Amino acid sequence: MPTPAAGTQALMEITSRPDVVFVRGEGSWLEDAAGKRYLDFIQGWAVNSLGHCHPAIIEALARQSRQLINPSPAFYNQPAIELARRIVAASCFDRVFFANSGAEANEGAIKLARKWGQLHRHGAYRIITFDHAFHGRTLATMSASGKPGWDRKFAPQVDGFPKADLNDLESVRALIDDDTVAVMLEPVQGEAGVLPATHQFLQDLRALTRERRLLLIVDEVQTGMCRTGLLFAYQHAGIEPDIMTLAKGIGGGVPLAALCATEAVSCFEPGDQGGTFNGNPLMAAVGVAVFDIVSAPSFMDAVHARSRQLKAGLEALSRKWGMHGERGVGLLRALVMDRDDGPVLVKAARQRVPEGLLLNAPRPNLLRFMPALTVTAGEIDTMLAWLDALIAQVRG
Ligand SMILES: *Cc1c(COP(=O)(O)O)cnc(C)c1O
Repeated sequence: MPTPAAGTQALMEITSRPDVVFVRGEGSWLEDAAGKRYLDFIQGWAVNSLGHCHPAIIEALARQSRQLINPSPAFYNQPAIELARRIVAASCFDRVFFANSGAEANEGAIKLARKWGQLHRHGAYRIITFDHAFHGRTLATMSASGKPGWDRKFAPQVDGFPKADLNDLESVRALIDDDTVAVMLEPVQGEAGVLPATHQFLQDLRALTRERRLLLIVDEVQTGMCRTGLLFAYQHAGIEPDIMTLAKGIGGGVPLAALCATEAVSCFEPGDQGGTFNGNPLMAAVGVAVFDIVSAPSFMDAVHARSRQLKAGLEALSRKWGMHGERGVGLLRALVMDRDDGPVLVKAARQRVPEGLLLNAPRPNLLRFMPALTVTAGEIDTMLAWLDALIAQVRG
């Protein structure tokens, strides 16, 4: 008998994957090759903003693929124009460059900041980032990240990313020198375990960067597109950054990302930035469909209601089991446990029968919840009930 995942040796082993092959998805549910269903609270790591295989995404892909797939980024196409106009109208930014992944958008942000430094700050190039930050897996974005151990992986690093401490303005101030051009952060550190930057910190950081003529870059790859209950997480703090990156939720599951900048900072010249797939109309058409759904006021109201429900449910679980509470913003939340049973719970949840549950433990004592923004009240209740039973099972 071949295992369910026979033939996997042909794939590079970039992570240890469970012996499950998913064949179908709909909304908050996935189905594997054996017909088992799973309630999905990972959603491709907050990628599937509308859940699996949303009809609007299917329709956008089908319609656009019949019309035009990729004329090349050297020419305009209508969906890219439409999506850029929507982002610009809904944000403090004036210009958008589309990319294919969060890491690529962040690379673009780093290049844009360095270019701006060459033009306006005598070649300043250093970008202050934060301990435990996650910005992607290219060489520069790994260097910008503050994941423990990443400074030695694939050494030497790309130079110029000193690390400050989140929510500690003095740690930022202490790193600023003549070569500093920008500060870059996630409004909520996702991979680090759902650690929000406080509104006060973001406001102080904006004031400090203005005073020292530095750019402020927000990496909203995980927090953007209504994940936190507002279209963009920086809006909670009432600040206006200079540069923002989007990915994950903007494509609702397809590879789409965006680098957004104010007019004053949009200093790329022809030849500075590009890429064969960038801004292709097939992905941009999906982006337009996703954008129109998540930016509707009634959609955001539902996200608020679901996030209140999830927060209250996690708080109740924490109280019942003597854990250390919950945290997060909108539908990006974490349960902080009193022991390191995250990995055991993740496995037990996946192996649960007859239906499995997909959870993520970015740290051993922490579970992260990133459901579809379209998750129903019933699905949240189901997840909470199953998790309660799983904790009981694991803790005996
Ligand atoms: C996932 C993530 C990235 C990387 O995005 P990819 O599309 O995987 O390259 C960058 N920044 C943040 C905050 C992320 O959560």
